[in-house]
Amino acid sequence: MSTGRCRNCNQISNCPVCNVELNGFHHVGVRSSGLTNSSIWHYADPCGHKLEKSSLGASTVTANPQAVYNGGPVWKTGYQWFNVFWGSFWVANALVPMVNKAVEDIEKNTSYSGELKQYGVGIGTLNGYRVISQNPPQSVSSKDISTVLIDWIKTQNIPDFGGKGAYNIFLPKGVMATLSGDQSCVKFCDYHDTADGNQGPFFTCEPYPCTSGCNQCSTSSFDTLTQGLSEEMVELKTDMNPGTGWVIGNEEICDYCDTNFVCNRISSGEYVNAWYSNSLNGCWTPSR
Ligand SMILES: [Zn+2]
Ligand SMILES: [Zn+2]
Repeated sequence: MSTGRCRNCNQISNCPVCNVELNGFHHVGVRSSGLTNSSIWHYADPCGHKLEKSSLGASTVTANPQAVYNGGPVWKTGYQWFNVFWGSFWVANALVPMVNKAVEDIEKNTSYSGELKQYGVGIGTLNGYRVISQNPPQSVSSKDISTVLIDWIKTQNIPDFGGKGAYNIFLPKGVMATLSGDQSCVKFCDYHDTADGNQGPFFTCEPYPCTSGCNQCSTSSFDTLTQGLSEEMVELKTDMNPGTGWVIGNEEICDYCDTNFVCNRISSGEYVNAWYSNSLNGCWTPSR
């Protein structure tokens, strides 16, 4: 977990909630439950309070926006994904090969992922996956994931991409993800973050699919998962350290399209969330 400043928070010296003097903010790319508040969520350091939209500058997004680049790291051709299924729940679970295939399908789709070329983003591959049979705690924070990710890399449980890739962390059924005081399936569906700013390791966190608020297209938990996963993969690739890459105001490029959500599937069948394309002046669609 790292703390920094973006153009939307660089004027805020004291926490609007508790007035403590701030070191900066923890920036997290979040898909919100109900999809109405998907954006870069700001948690104040050191108090942990979440900033409301109204406290942030430049957060009003207009009808025909342009994504702008803030100079941070973006995904390059050859970068790699690694899937981590955390907990004994995943041992011999039929979802594991389905999710691995979904990551490959999403990444190699020449339309959905290929058209991110307009943002200088390349095509990656799935390097592999690992089921970590030791169970996580009942509640897992972003800081917990950052700590364990660095440990798993150090102990060679998972490969070290040295910033040239990212890890999808899948939590088991019954385990809650938390961001400061906010809980998965209550306030948010999933998110992406970095353990140490522009250095990474970079990761997405996918809690077990929520039963409501995170899928407007079907009742399948796998479909819920791929909608969240596709969004976090795209947003990680275009904005690896949340807020430093391609953004629209305080939103990442799928967040904008969550607001007027449309159900879309790629040619291999998976449901995916649309992202904002500057060259289309609108949200990605599979057929046009
Ligand atoms: Zn900020
Ligand atoms: Zn505070």
